[in-house]
Amino acid sequence: MRWDNLVENPAPTGNSALFTADAVTTRTFDTPEFRGITFHEVRARSIVNRVPGASRMPFEWTVNPYRGCSHACVYCFARKTHSYLDLDTGLGFDSQIVVKTNAPELLRSQLASGHWHGAHIAMGTNVDCYQRAEGRYRLMPGIISALRDHANPFSILTKGTLILRDLELLRQAAEVTDVGISVSVGFVDDALWRTVEPGTPSPGRRLDAVRTLSENGIDCGVLMAPVIPFLGDHPDQLRATVRAIAAAGATSVTPLVLHLRPGAREWYMQWLGNHHPHLVRRYERLYAEGAYAPKWYQRRITRYVHELAAEFGIGPSHPGAARRLPARKEQRSPLDDPGPTQLTLL
Ligand code: SF4
Repeated sequence: MRWDNLVENPAPTGNSALFTADAVTTRTFDTPEFRGITFHEVRARSIVNRVPGASRMPFEWTVNPYRGCSHACVYCFARKTHSYLDLDTGLGFDSQIVVKTNAPELLRSQLASGHWHGAHIAMGTNVDCYQRAEGRYRLMPGIISALRDHANPFSILTKGTLILRDLELLRQAAEVTDVGISVSVGFVDDALWRTVEPGTPSPGRRLDAVRTLSENGIDCGVLMAPVIPFLGDHPDQLRATVRAIAAAGATSVTPLVLHLRPGAREWYMQWLGNHHPHLVRRYERLYAEGAYAPKWYQRRITRYVHELAAEFGIGPSHPGAARRLPARKEQRSPLDDPGPTQLTLL
């Protein structure tokens, strides 16, 4: 494994984000939820990463406490990043998880640095920060606490219902800064979910999380992603999905059609050949130009989802749109970590 290649983009407060080989501890846990997963614990030198300028992403700074993701979505675009470590981008991505164990303390110190200017920080942009590992390592409470204590705006995108464990911390952060939460639900078809997103909580449980967040005063949008051509794009499926998203109380729905970048493409096409061989030629034609489906297809899906959103009373808007809660009257200590309010194991 090439730990020298565990390089993120340079942060404003650190010299380098290299992890050294002597900082790696490898562990396995013999419990049902972690069986078959190997954790590589590292002490990172930097945790705030700058998104390369050429990126299409609508954010500049990210924090990613993990690499690899046991949610194991077949289409995951982050698979390629595992190849930089000489790790397998297929099953290896699902089961070889890098854990930056010092992420909370490092973030707190980087936020306190005079070089940091309080920019928005996006999480869940590479791999899911509420994947199964988070149930054991509990890095997110420390990360959210640091952001809260520095009133630093942030957003989280996740498929993990474990986010509900940190609901009270999110509430506290939203009182002092802009917090945007988005849950990703591309479809509500359970048969499709079981094969294409096998390590994730079900779409129904994710929508329950949306409901719980909004009932507790945390606005939550849904990134309807991915819409999967020929498997999850039938008008009836789109209608059922948007209806369920609306019923969960999501503040917005933003559709995104499946894209297949190198690394994800090979793994997805292999899965497609095994499960839906009759679709392989259609996919090769639809994605003949590269990683993205043709514009006409994307526009058709987007237009229809927007029509459904209007029909069901939710406006399509910006994913992870941030919002600040009005301050509560009671006082809160900056050191106050209330611990879990609800724990949902994946
Ligand atoms: S939850 Fe997100 S990061 Fe994790 S495997 Fe699925 S798409 Fe990738």
